[in-house]
Amino acid sequence: MIKIYNTLSKKVETFEPLHNGKVNMYVCGPTVYGDIHVGNARPVIFFDFVKRYLSHLNYDVFYVSNITDIDDRIVEKAIEEKTSEDIIANKYTEAFINITKSIGSKLPDKMPKATHYISDMVRYIEKLLKDGYAYVKDSGVYFRISKVKDYGKLSGQILENLEENIRIDNEDDKENSKDFALWKKVDEGVEFESPFGKGRPGWHTECAVMNHEIFNGEIDIHGGGADLIFPHHENEIAQTVAHSDHHLAKYWMHVARLNIENVKMSKSLGNTVLVKDLINETNPNVFRLLILGHQYRQPINYTRDLLDQYEKQYQKLESTAKRVLLQIKDNYKKELDITIIKNVEDVLNDDFNTPNLITILQDLTKELNKETDLEKLGVLYYTFTYILDMMGIDLNINLTHEILDTYEKWQVARSNKDFASADVLRKKLIDQGWL
Ligand SMILES: [Zn+2]
Repeated sequence: MIKIYNTLSKKVETFEPLHNGKVNMYVCGPTVYGDIHVGNARPVIFFDFVKRYLSHLNYDVFYVSNITDIDDRIVEKAIEEKTSEDIIANKYTEAFINITKSIGSKLPDKMPKATHYISDMVRYIEKLLKDGYAYVKDSGVYFRISKVKDYGKLSGQILENLEENIRIDNEDDKENSKDFALWKKVDEGVEFESPFGKGRPGWHTECAVMNHEIFNGEIDIHGGGADLIFPHHENEIAQTVAHSDHHLAKYWMHVARLNIENVKMSKSLGNTVLVKDLINETNPNVFRLLILGHQYRQPINYTRDLLDQYEKQYQKLESTAKRVLLQIKDNYKKELDITIIKNVEDVLNDDFNTPNLITILQDLTKELNKETDLEKLGVLYYTFTYILDMMGIDLNINLTHEILDTYEKWQVARSNKDFASADVLRKKLIDQGWL
């Protein structure tokens, strides 16, 4: 049984999906106004891994991640670039999809766009108004948090600290400073018609409504970055409690932050590393190994040195795989070592302990380098690539006829004690990274 830390209960719980064998998962996706940085990519890699692992456990996973394609930041960017919001949104949606694929993540099963759900959002807000959970002011429609009994359950501590440390300015005409906008009347950028005046939906409403429309009921896992716990996820829950009388998801999973040189990555500090720049100079598999080398609830302190460490680890995996493949060629037994797979499940069932998964992989590398029995080597190699595939790491090794031919000639030269030829052939294999 897999155990997952649930932010809602603040406990590690045994995972029991709502419907036998089926997992519905929603993860908050990007607001498409710019290229994503390495911190944004952490949930993109981690939740793809969650789906891969749950699929390995034979769950039928339906994974949804939205595209926020209308937002003040998109409007600002469109004004700045003297173009329209949909051109900006389309450009960065496409960029996001390309980056997702290039870092080894599969695309979610569904990627709903907020702008496709505007009329559903209007209907949803109308129901909240009718039931007294919302009110209309000159600046927009707001959600009345005092009406939801356990408001703050998800964010708990975070909310208390906020109340202590930050005075939230009541910049609008709201009843309570923490009431949030369901619909905002705006005076620049794209507007949508509604019974409450022309405007745009609030971000928290977008996710709550897309969940309601797509799943029409409670889901199993809702995920995202830890920075979304408050206010975004708290407010998604509040709306869902008010609208549909449940907490949206049974398990709330949050991925810790990725800092850079111990500092939060932010555009204003100018310390962001864009994924597109990183993968220009580093194999994306190395970055993936780095992300999965950390348990998802632990912050990552990203540095060049850290990346170099994972580069070395990755090189070891790749060179081992090449050496083994030369020996077993392509006619090895596609059979898993069940003891190793059992170990993999033991560590991952412990709230996705991926650092221990990497330890298993390193031990397996040692075994691969020691094993001389070709049949056993084949099973170990198949298990090795199976685990890498579960991690979304494709070594992409192409064993050509030419390489195989060189390897076989080297073997013959060695057994004939023709050391001069053997040295030349060996050097050729080394130069091409096969030995
Ligand atoms: Zn969201």
